[in-house]
Amino acid sequence: MEKKNIDWAALGFGYIKTDKRFVSNFKNGAWDEGVLTEDDKVVISECAGVLQYAQTCFEGLKAYTTEDGHIVCFRPDLNAKRMHDSAERLEMPPFPEDRFIQAVVDVVKANAAYVPPYGSGATLYIRPYMFGSNPVIGVKPADEYQFRIFVTPVGPYFKGGAKPITVKISDFDRAAPHGTGHIKAGLNYAMSLHAIVTAHNEGYAENIYLDPGTRTKIEETGGANIIFVDADGNLVVPKSGSILPSITRRSLVYVAEKYLGLKVDEREVLLSEVPNFKECGLCGTAAVISPVGKIVDHGKEICFESGMEKMGPVIQKLYDTLTGIQMGRIEAPEGWIKVIE
Ligand SMILES: *Cc1c(COP(=O)(O)O)cnc(C)c1O
Repeated sequence: MEKKNIDWAALGFGYIKTDKRFVSNFKNGAWDEGVLTEDDKVVISECAGVLQYAQTCFEGLKAYTTEDGHIVCFRPDLNAKRMHDSAERLEMPPFPEDRFIQAVVDVVKANAAYVPPYGSGATLYIRPYMFGSNPVIGVKPADEYQFRIFVTPVGPYFKGGAKPITVKISDFDRAAPHGTGHIKAGLNYAMSLHAIVTAHNEGYAENIYLDPGTRTKIEETGGANIIFVDADGNLVVPKSGSILPSITRRSLVYVAEKYLGLKVDEREVLLSEVPNFKECGLCGTAAVISPVGKIVDHGKEICFESGMEKMGPVIQKLYDTLTGIQMGRIEAPEGWIKVIE
């Protein structure tokens, strides 16, 4: 198959229209069989539930080319399950998990010419999402829904090395206790936009949100979970019911324990103990891990020993091992790599 004429290394993280996308509609209590289509436009009522009351959720994963030339994606079963959970929390009919995985495979295959080659650093980003599509004006769940998956090639997350970033402790809250922080709802992002624009204007790369109840505990950033390395070189992972269960974070915990022999402590993490940690990183599908060099808490700087030039040694090892597993250079745990073709 001939690849598209794209300068993979120069790609950013943006939308590029590809050839095919998957669409399935839910009507009269059932999902239809769905189609792959060239039509990239969505036509819905001006009163659609998603437009009035934000009834929508999404997922994000990547397809890429491994060292031996296969197109694969990473743990799509966990995205299928998480989207199922998101849909239930938003009173939407879940899209069946086996059909979710099949649709991911079908869309990637149909756009194989857009999957970047091994070694380019670029990947094919896959965006499944679902929304209420029929008119809703009294507040209630929609009766009809659309599930779609499109793909778009994205460039290497780190151009010219993974430089540590500076982040701030936010005065805004991301997710209430017993709210929707643990699901991938569009609404969680809508309310974070003001906070991230503010942080960027102040020169910070990201916001760290605290628990809204006591404002003493670390939750996560707007779109990534946080991991720390303690003075003994072990992994410390914040735990809370309002943190989004990152697949990258869950995979890193497994890698730390099973591949690197580290101890992993998943527990509530106080902001006041962060100065005792040696390394910090943000984890999510896009970057795998972004190293954090400095956290600014209302003018007070918390500088990690790993500094502002490179990843700390433990985070580097975690990064190398997980990306090695993803790219087929290191043997993966059973079921982690879904071969597409
Ligand atoms: C998607 C997301 C993450 C990262 O999850 P991955 O499955 O690792 O990509 C972290 N935090 C939030 C709020 C998210 O929406």
